[in-house]
Amino acid sequence: MSLDDRTIEAIHTGVSAGGSVVFVSGAGISAESGVRTYRGEDGMWTTDGAAAMSKATLAYFSRYPERSWQWHLDRRAEVLSAEPNAAHEALVRLEAVLGDRFALITQNVDRLHIRAGNSTRRTVEIHGHYGGMRCTAGCVGVVPIPNEFDAWRDEPNWPKLRDLLVCLRCGFATRPHVLWFDEFYDEANYRMKTAGSLAARASLCVTVGTSGGVPVAARLAGIAAKAGAVLIDVNPTDGDLRQLALRSPGGAAIAAPASDAIPVIVDLIESQVRGVDRI
Ligand SMILES: [Zn+2]
Repeated sequence: MSLDDRTIEAIHTGVSAGGSVVFVSGAGISAESGVRTYRGEDGMWTTDGAAAMSKATLAYFSRYPERSWQWHLDRRAEVLSAEPNAAHEALVRLEAVLGDRFALITQNVDRLHIRAGNSTRRTVEIHGHYGGMRCTAGCVGVVPIPNEFDAWRDEPNWPKLRDLLVCLRCGFATRPHVLWFDEFYDEANYRMKTAGSLAARASLCVTVGTSGGVPVAARLAGIAAKAGAVLIDVNPTDGDLRQLALRSPGGAAIAAPASDAIPVIVDLIESQVRGVDRI
């Protein structure tokens, strides 16, 4: 695909301003890898209804910790079978080009960005991720869910596996490291303040695959815009973030799938940063 003049200009302006290049990613980028989204047309909440949505809550975990874990492990197995796509791979290339000028804030819990190769240092997973668990007593930070669970889909031997879900330090139960619907963002677990500061340092902020159904992406884009960043939205369908980008000074929107658009955006940024003239 090729970019229109308005988008090329937006990228050029945003990159030459010298601030950070911040990507904010949402479910759309994962959907292109076959990961079920929550809210889309065949999203989990749409097809499974309120029953599914009520499972992703602290209330459900408090009442049925084992069922909650099992549901979570089903989701984890689902995303482990998905592979990063061209959009994820392009963002890995961009991090290598930009170094500390690069930041990635993702709403996705599937870890596809990390599995593709983006660093955990420059990637903020504001909703947590399926790969981690943490002590409910709060005694240690996030630890990886043991490898024994990788075979969960084929052989979910619950009585044997259950014991692996206790905190090794204090013996309390662990919980999945994801933000549930009845919980709030915090810095210690979800690095929400960090995400806000990263957005405030951006001179180019690209939102990708996020419907705006989760207000956090719009809030981060708003922080970036207020600090003078150029906004670009990538999404095949129209939404709040596209409108926000188009209304913002110098902003642009690309109505295309992430796996088509992101590699082209990254090529352009890369040639600009390396000082190669674009033909
Ligand atoms: Zn503990």
